[in-house]
Amino acid sequence: MNATRLSGIGMTSQRTRSRLVQWLLDEGIQNQEVLRIMEDTPRHLFIDEGLSHRAYENTALPIGQGQTISQPYIVARMTELLLETGKTGKVLEIGTGCGYQTAVLAKTCKTVFSIERIRKLHMQARQTLQQLNLHNVQLLFADGFNGWQQNAPFDGIIVTAAPSDIPEKLLLQMANGGRMIIPVGTQESYQELYLIERQDDKFRKTFIEKVKFVPLVGGVSR
Ligand code: SAH
Repeated sequence: MNATRLSGIGMTSQRTRSRLVQWLLDEGIQNQEVLRIMEDTPRHLFIDEGLSHRAYENTALPIGQGQTISQPYIVARMTELLLETGKTGKVLEIGTGCGYQTAVLAKTCKTVFSIERIRKLHMQARQTLQQLNLHNVQLLFADGFNGWQQNAPFDGIIVTAAPSDIPEKLLLQMANGGRMIIPVGTQESYQELYLIERQDDKFRKTFIEKVKFVPLVGGVSR
């Protein structure tokens, strides 16, 4: 990747990124580390060059295959919720997509495991994350409904597509004291974001806010 594209110019410049951080502050994001990471992460590298000029708008954008890169606010919010107790060990993400949330997590968690069911997106994300020298990330092309048993238990699980119910296998792969952030709902225009906290065999569920995600779909797409 050439140096100009990596550092960004004009609409992808550092100044534009700082404006995004101001929006996140206005929307109530408080965690300083999350804000710093969002400012440092070149979101324009995760989307098609033709859309680069919109990379630092606080909006979801298409990434092909009928999927989207999440809105920066929701990436920041989910990361903030995950970090609330200060634990930043092993984290599992379901729905790598272009790898933007993965990159944000990789800058603050020890290891990030991320699963994607569409092969093309999985391959592209691998390339982008390598270019950014994020080496504490492990990507898997698979159906995220099954989680990633070999690497369980996870201190945190972030699900970036919405199932109609919380998948039981994911609950069972949470560490004791671990947290899961997950949107739940059947309508694409309306789902509810939940925080799940595990204490031994008890799972406490807290409603966070209304959200809009693509659906969590079973099986893989080659
Ligand atoms: N985390 C991404 C969001 C991508 S959108 C970001 O930072 O922007 C959600 C992604 O979840 C899509 O790429 C979709 O293909 C993927 N997905 C949907 N169902 C899945 C499943 N069962 N397992 C793994 N990934 C899934």
